[in-house]
Amino acid sequence: MRYAALTDTGKVRENNEDAYYADGRLFIVADGMGGHQSGEVASALAVQEFLRYERDNRHRDPLRRLEEAVQAANRVLVTRAAGDSALKGMGTTFTVLLVENGAYLGHVGDSRAYLLREGTLNPLTRDHSLVERMVREGRITRGEARSHPRRNVILQALGLAVELDVDLARVDVRPGDRVLLCTDGLTARLEDAELESILGEESELWECARRLVEEANARGGEDNVTVIVIDLDNADVPFSSADEVGGERARRWLSRIRRRGDRGG
Ligand code: CA
Repeated sequence: MRYAALTDTGKVRENNEDAYYADGRLFIVADGMGGHQSGEVASALAVQEFLRYERDNRHRDPLRRLEEAVQAANRVLVTRAAGDSALKGMGTTFTVLLVENGAYLGHVGDSRAYLLREGTLNPLTRDHSLVERMVREGRITRGEARSHPRRNVILQALGLAVELDVDLARVDVRPGDRVLLCTDGLTARLEDAELESILGEESELWECARRLVEEANARGGEDNVTVIVIDLDNADVPFSSADEVGGERARRWLSRIRRRGDRGG
């Protein structure tokens, strides 16, 4: 497992309301919102409370644990916002990838996760935003969504209400896959095709993260931008999915895992 995480305030704003976390097992991006810098509190608090719950509940099944940890973080934010007028209205997006005998995703808001496999980029998340809903209902095109006056309206975020629907998924990952987690400071500026070419061209992870952030800043840098780029190697991929890789590559991979296991045991 190799990864690179980078956040940047951008060229216009004075503070960075994005928060991120990456430790080789858990990867999180959170994009805070709210007046008087309370967005910074929202994203940082959500990450902190998520990690606290996750740490104390490792015995639980991964997807259930992700769901409960996001819900726990949400409840803390709602309570804090209600108890402090300076924090009223604060909220945050939250996108988390857990790599633990497989890969699991939890998602709320309009930050995103993507999977690059053999040069092709596919989204792993769907924005909880007004424009995404309008695109799905056929009322506007994807191109129109990018410049729509209400493109920043999100339908769900942590901190706004006790009721929260967390998107959850087990992600089918394979050796060689690259995952991107990012806030909308990146995706509001770069098309998926541009993300695909940078992620596909740049083998060095830090260089890749740096280029993504630089590119967002070069196009105005009006928002905070956060990216985490993760390369999944053989050891991160569940043993049982070896069949899907197929042929010679799978056999090589399996023998490598066995050798690794031999050394460890
Ligand atoms: Ca943002």
